[in-house]
Amino acid sequence: MTHSEPLLSVRGVTIQYKTPQHLITATYRVDFDVHQGDRFILLGPSGCGKSTLQKAVGGYITPCEGEIRLKGQKVKEPGPDRMMVFQEFDQLLPWKTVKQNVAFALQTAKRLSRAEAEERAMHYVCKVGLEKFANSHPHMLSGGMKQRVAIARGMAMEPDILLMDEPFAALDALTRRRMQDELLALWEETHFTVLFVTHSIAEAIKIGNRILLLSPHPGRVKAEINSTTDPIEAARLEKRIHEMLFVNEPDEEEAEHA
Ligand code: ADP
Ligand code: MG
Repeated sequence: MTHSEPLLSVRGVTIQYKTPQHLITATYRVDFDVHQGDRFILLGPSGCGKSTLQKAVGGYITPCEGEIRLKGQKVKEPGPDRMMVFQEFDQLLPWKTVKQNVAFALQTAKRLSRAEAEERAMHYVCKVGLEKFANSHPHMLSGGMKQRVAIARGMAMEPDILLMDEPFAALDALTRRRMQDELLALWEETHFTVLFVTHSIAEAIKIGNRILLLSPHPGRVKAEINSTTDPIEAARLEKRIHEMLFVNEPDEEEAEHA
């Protein structure tokens, strides 16, 4: 792979859901590239197809038009090179401990021995600050702690890209902010590549280095924007994105009423 070649390329991707009554177009001809080390954000209002796009990158949904390539290879199915972290608190196996939850996939998908898997699991459990809870079960943990375990489990697989779908949306505001800071601190350490879905403009600016703005249903690319760490610039950018997303464009409905 040459340096300029993107890690992930999404080209002209249209995704539809067929239900018995309807054909729903979730995303329409979406293009974007994610490079090694990017914190790439999919941002847009609820229902614009962010999760759909991410599941397609994960290999769980096949586009009806366009293609998705990871390191030049067409994505056809799920694989350990793409690990997903979800919003839900119940993504851990309740009967396994924190360490076992992280080690489990390392044994099954990466075929590490139990000892190797547990050693690597502990490394990542420590990275997310849960060493004291390594032998606890998920029901003993707060929501934020469970999310840390899910992140540790994803990172322990050392995927090419970590897929995070609104991972902090169900957390209280303070915990959410702390988790955002922790994620950035982890990124500073390892420069992993993440495709991060959110509908929060502030979260997008804080977490991302690049932001793909999607229009409401069906999701199309509205803009691709570089984020900023400068607080004044960030406030300006937040306002600009808000305007781009929510200031009404004359649509058909309005035209009808005119
Ligand atoms: P977002 O994550 O941006 O909120 P989604 O990707 O979940 O949006 O959904 C995009 C659109 O696709 C929505 O209109 C949603 O109702 C529809 N959709 C999502 N999943 C399904 C499904 N399994 N079957 C039918 N329609 C779906
Ligand atoms: Mg979603």
